[in-house]
Amino acid sequence: MTTAKLAGRVVFIGAGPGSADLITVRGARRLAEADVVLFDALTDPALRAYAPNALWVDVGKRGFCHATGQATIDALLVRHAREHRTVVRLKGGDPSIFGRLEEELHALAAAGIACEVVPGVTAAIAAAAHTRRPLTRRGAGRSVSLTTAMNQQGRLQAGRHADTEVFYMAGRQLAALGRALRQAGWPADTPVCVVSRAGWPDAVGTDHALHELATAAVLHAGRPTVVTVGAGARALSRPSACPGLDAAPAGQAATAP
Ligand code: SAH
Repeated sequence: MTTAKLAGRVVFIGAGPGSADLITVRGARRLAEADVVLFDALTDPALRAYAPNALWVDVGKRGFCHATGQATIDALLVRHAREHRTVVRLKGGDPSIFGRLEEELHALAAAGIACEVVPGVTAAIAAAAHTRRPLTRRGAGRSVSLTTAMNQQGRLQAGRHADTEVFYMAGRQLAALGRALRQAGWPADTPVCVVSRAGWPDAVGTDHALHELATAAVLHAGRPTVVTVGAGARALSRPSACPGLDAAPAGQAATAP
């Protein structure tokens, strides 16, 4: 084995949830150093401009239907890191949030390969920016929880753990999520914001009371979606002048700035 073969490293980069310009400056710089980029389905193809000469490998994972199995991705990372100096693992949003980072770090550690993690903007934060609804509120919103609505068996889970709860991977089960949240003790009139494709030019945000969350399903069908429940979903008492949910009628406010 040559010294060059031992020099490989893997940089996990959070691409952000939407348009390419949501990547961090550090993320863009590391991406430009890549020899190989293993990228997920939800990353913006425009990011290729940062590493036009790298080998781009689509390991697209789409919801629970993984185009490339996790074990295959782990093996690809190790193989490429042994053959190249810099391998980038480009993930949508932030790599640490529902991104299977743990498995990939384990696989690289077991192979003795050095890693770095560059954070990214997670979908919950991009949704809050889109709706101009801060996730924390002085006094009323002191805690935020990020939850995947699906457990490992593919069953829906919902509880009441924080003042603001943001659910990922719930887009296909909004009616069931609404029912589960009410069973968990959230009142029927709890404010809920549903945002799909946050961070993209065609982002859509809608505003609901919990008991009518099912009506959001058709508005966001087939799009990556996060659901914000509780304090952080409440409209500001003094609406901002920026276009956002505050400007639209309550109930089904669609926004695409
Ligand atoms: N690591 C990612 C999340 C990956 S899990 C992050 O930090 O954002 C995939 C889920 O994220 C999707 O099912 C959806 O719930 C959410 N998601 C990803 N991109 C999104 C976007 N642009 N808008 C809304 N939700 C998004």
